[in-house]
Amino acid sequence: MNRYDRQIRLPEIGREGQEKLLTSSVLCVGAGGLGSPALLYLAAAGVGRIGIIDFDRVDESNLQRQILYSNAAVGQLKATQSADRLSALNPAIQIDAYNEELNAESAARLFPVYDIILDGTDNFEAKFLINDAAVKYGKTWIYGAIQGFDGQASVFNYKGGPCYRCLYPEKPSQPVMNCAEAGVIGAVAGIVGVTQALQAIQIIAGHPSFEILSGRLWRVDTRTMHTQILNIQKNRACVICSREPNAIVPQYASPVCGAVSEISVRRVKNKVNYVLIDVREQEEWDKGSIKGAILWPLSKIIAGHMPESYRGEEIILHCQKGKRSMQAVDILRAHGFADVKSLSGGYEAWLEDAQ
Ligand SMILES: [Zn+2]
Repeated sequence: MNRYDRQIRLPEIGREGQEKLLTSSVLCVGAGGLGSPALLYLAAAGVGRIGIIDFDRVDESNLQRQILYSNAAVGQLKATQSADRLSALNPAIQIDAYNEELNAESAARLFPVYDIILDGTDNFEAKFLINDAAVKYGKTWIYGAIQGFDGQASVFNYKGGPCYRCLYPEKPSQPVMNCAEAGVIGAVAGIVGVTQALQAIQIIAGHPSFEILSGRLWRVDTRTMHTQILNIQKNRACVICSREPNAIVPQYASPVCGAVSEISVRRVKNKVNYVLIDVREQEEWDKGSIKGAILWPLSKIIAGHMPESYRGEEIILHCQKGKRSMQAVDILRAHGFADVKSLSGGYEAWLEDAQ
């Protein structure tokens, strides 16, 4: 207990709170900018069992904010690397590494095992899935998000409180950029990730003086350091938390507004059952193409010829760099293709990833 002496001294934690921490479990979805600081503090505080689910590998451009990883970890699996780091920090706790993507299947398998789910993801789709699954399996989850210099955090599905879909029933129709696209300072991710870890610790310790961020959205503008807390009402007609758990089908986002326009190479390579369509022109295709892709040039789409035989399937479009395929996504959606995305970075990103 010497390890935890400084927090046990706090009357709000004490020996009782420490025992609760040691017998509790947290699953962190994503070991990136939010997950890194959150996981370090949860492990240091002695949360007895910590799960990490992440399918990604460490990239050099992650190191600026993903403080779990050393330079030597570049190219390695995040789940494994972070588990090693956390075990080195605190060998007395159990760390489970899941090198896989969060989807309805993995959520069904993993969520019931843990007490609390901590969101370390950077996109709406994953947050919707976490929310739906958390409500279905009766788990509180701790939300965090950053956009530029703005950060926010909240706690959903806590003791009958609102869920994320009470706040956002559908995905915003405007595409929202993630960190990789919009840019971020690591310290801002740190503020939010640490706030999430603190919420988890407070929920577990359960002292009455802790006012958990349930029904409240905490926001900080780190340019001015102004913070505010907005109240979130529980929506009695919420599409998720007003339903019977058995009736909830966790999904990434409603297909109606499911306007995630881009998908990463890594994510596509972890996928099965999709149609990959190359929207470049014939002469580009002749110089090289992705195995299994189908050629359907943008010029043909613009001329009004849609890939009708793939209607209803999950379609991923790609071009050379990812720009023309975005245009093609818009056109296909306008023609009623519901599930269509653009491969981020296009053919060049695909080749780069293979190396
Ligand atoms: Zn709800």
